[in-house]
Amino acid sequence: MTAAPSAAADDTRTIFEKGRPGRRAFTAPELEVPPAPDDALPGRFRRTQAPRLPEVSEPELVRHYVNLSKRNFDLDSGFYPLGSCTMKHNPRLHERVAALPGHARLHPFQDPEHAQGALELMFNLEHALAEVSGLPHVSLQPSAGSHGELAGVLLARAYHADRDDHERDEVLAPDTAHGTNPATVTMAGLKVVKVATDADGGVDMDDLRAKTGPRTACLMLTNPNTLGIFDPNIEEITTLVRDAGGVLYYDGANLNAVMGVTRPGDMGFDIVHFNLHKTFTQPHGGGGPGSGPIAVNDRIEPYLMVPRVERTDEGGFTLSDDHPRTIGRLRGFQGNYGTFVRSYAYICSLGADGLRDASVTAVLNANYLLARLKEAGVAEHLPLAFGTLCMHEFVLSGAPMKRELGIRTLDLAKRLLDFGFHPPTVYFPLLVDEALLIEPTETETKETLDGFADAIAAILREAAQDPEIARNAPYDTPVRRLDEAAAAKRPVIRQPLEGATAA
Ligand SMILES: *Cc1c(COP(=O)(O)O)cnc(C)c1O
Repeated sequence: MTAAPSAAADDTRTIFEKGRPGRRAFTAPELEVPPAPDDALPGRFRRTQAPRLPEVSEPELVRHYVNLSKRNFDLDSGFYPLGSCTMKHNPRLHERVAALPGHARLHPFQDPEHAQGALELMFNLEHALAEVSGLPHVSLQPSAGSHGELAGVLLARAYHADRDDHERDEVLAPDTAHGTNPATVTMAGLKVVKVATDADGGVDMDDLRAKTGPRTACLMLTNPNTLGIFDPNIEEITTLVRDAGGVLYYDGANLNAVMGVTRPGDMGFDIVHFNLHKTFTQPHGGGGPGSGPIAVNDRIEPYLMVPRVERTDEGGFTLSDDHPRTIGRLRGFQGNYGTFVRSYAYICSLGADGLRDASVTAVLNANYLLARLKEAGVAEHLPLAFGTLCMHEFVLSGAPMKRELGIRTLDLAKRLLDFGFHPPTVYFPLLVDEALLIEPTETETKETLDGFADAIAAILREAAQDPEIARNAPYDTPVRRLDEAAAAKRPVIRQPLEGATAA
């Protein structure tokens, strides 16, 4: 059980409410340049009143943010087996290199001539990702996996348009797909066609055959999929869609299962996105910054985003916009550069063998945990939804638990917090009733995996005695059950100013 939160951590006053006039945490240095003349900015742009800022001392400021951070569960304080999202340890070495002034203080408007080291790092990272994916051309621009997906669908659209193939308006996606797949298809103005899953957890080949045709723009596939199953028909799937004229998009969010073992390019895909913040260790879970580079093959390359990092004849690096058929630019500047530094550090420090080892260990850990749960006697109430073994993650169904013990997957998830574990992903993938999607990752010890399995077994035993305990959990967290729908739909994200009415 976690310790009860301290009084300081319980303090919900805002930083404004904690302040008192005149307190300061920072003193600006003396100006070293002449002050701007009074008419430097037209009068209508000038403040008539000082801005309302929190007035606090440095210790108050430090405590405010440290205590806020303690109200959240994070990977640095405990096991975080959030399926699909790969919450692996973020090596501290990466933070050290990302903080080097040459990286951290680089201005986004810096002339490429004076940012050669950064461009070289980007160039090398692109090459490493090309090698991992088996697709030779890379853009680091997208800010997240979902942004990479949008890029991919726009590239597929541009590819068909360039061939005067204007009838292709459908994108095939399995019913196990992450929600971002259909969302990005819709954003790109195309239609989603759902493909069924077969009894083994792979793509239903008959359904795929029936739905693939002259209107197919693209197939979006995650492999292994969100059930943790590597599709045994993958070559048949990519051949089928390619022969029908479609583009093949690989959602690379699950690359942590296959890195260095197999490559999306070799499976027959045209485009893949990487989630650097999942597979390649950028810290995430607080809303960013993320990074979703994409890699493509020769037939998609002409449409790839600009600017692109290229070598100059003199052996240096430059940014080039000179690609007439490009879909253009998808964001400001060059991408989230700090994520590139961390992921490049990861790739360099592990090397090819190390990356492969990470994937193999992730798969081993997931299968160990699966076996350990079975041994702890939970399989009767939480059976594996598909298959017998898994890749780097697996899906249990809480349907028998709900029926026989009277607690739902949500209750189990909330009770796990009292045992010091972050819950796995719940109620996804949608096709599994009361789903629990568990991804331990390669960076957890055997003892942690054992502890997690024992906690689940203990919660089920407890529920058999008294289901009310789990139904009212958590007990030891700073807040109990939250109205997540209201938090998403009506977020309170700013402190109302005195005298102003809340919008
Ligand atoms: C996380 C994830 C995405 C979306 O990636 P973001 O970086 O969160 O936008 C897409 N597909 C799958 C399978 C994922 O797990």
